[in-house]
Amino acid sequence: MKHIRILAAAAAAAMLASCAPAAERGGSDKIQVYTSFYAMYDLTRMIAGDRADVYNICPAGTEPHDFEPTAAEMARLTEADVFIYSGMSMEPWTDSVTETLSDSGVIAAETSADVPNVTENYDPHVWLDPENAYAQMEAIADALTAADPDNGGYYAERLGECREKTEKLDGDYKAAAESFASHVIITSHEAYMNLCDAYGLIQMGINGVDNADDPTPTRMAEIEDFIETNGVGYIFTEPLSSSSIVDTIAADTGCGVLVLDPFEGSAEDKDYFTVMYENLEALKTALS
Ligand SMILES: [Zn+2]
Repeated sequence: MKHIRILAAAAAAAMLASCAPAAERGGSDKIQVYTSFYAMYDLTRMIAGDRADVYNICPAGTEPHDFEPTAAEMARLTEADVFIYSGMSMEPWTDSVTETLSDSGVIAAETSADVPNVTENYDPHVWLDPENAYAQMEAIADALTAADPDNGGYYAERLGECREKTEKLDGDYKAAAESFASHVIITSHEAYMNLCDAYGLIQMGINGVDNADDPTPTRMAEIEDFIETNGVGYIFTEPLSSSSIVDTIAADTGCGVLVLDPFEGSAEDKDYFTVMYENLEALKTALS
């Protein structure tokens, strides 16, 4: 029912939007780019620089897995030139709107479509593997260039800078991983399969991949047993999850708590590389 309402609103908005010249869309002559949640917003602004207006639909500090845009937000989205999302069910609401967006002339880019490394269970948090994040940036650059060919060279140049930074990030993770004494990370939700696959780690999630529901008492007991049996020193919480369950496990077992950020949202406007290096420091503390 919710989806039907969104589609109806989107169709009505599309009819209005198609009549509005670019100059009336906020007075900017830059392309208007909308993104589905913070990670996509950040990767997009890295490529877009000052040549596009980039807006994030999922508000800062909001967990994207269960986010749904309002009818008003959908209406704004249909006025966009480009819509950037990740896909693989990271943003379930996008399934019902891509056709509407296409009908209203919005270039919609599913940036996970060509990532090189997909995990066995199709964990949608693909950007936590830097090689995948770079492929997503490539898809973003392609979409921006399709909407704005005059600035294609500028977007390509910025993509080149990001290539160097992602290669260095990947190298720094590989170097650190060689010296990890332990390879198991206990995380608040199972967002890290891509990171684990890239660097030889094993994840034990307190919550599942979609971060729904609290863990069962059986799962809590399994995790606490594992921590005590294996002498685990730290478990990981994350910025957008309630830390009460992590705190309970820490209090029960005496282990410490560190932050591992899946980069789904950032209240502090941090960029991808900053967060990935903060994560690396936390992993070094926990696993060395
Ligand atoms: Zn997640």
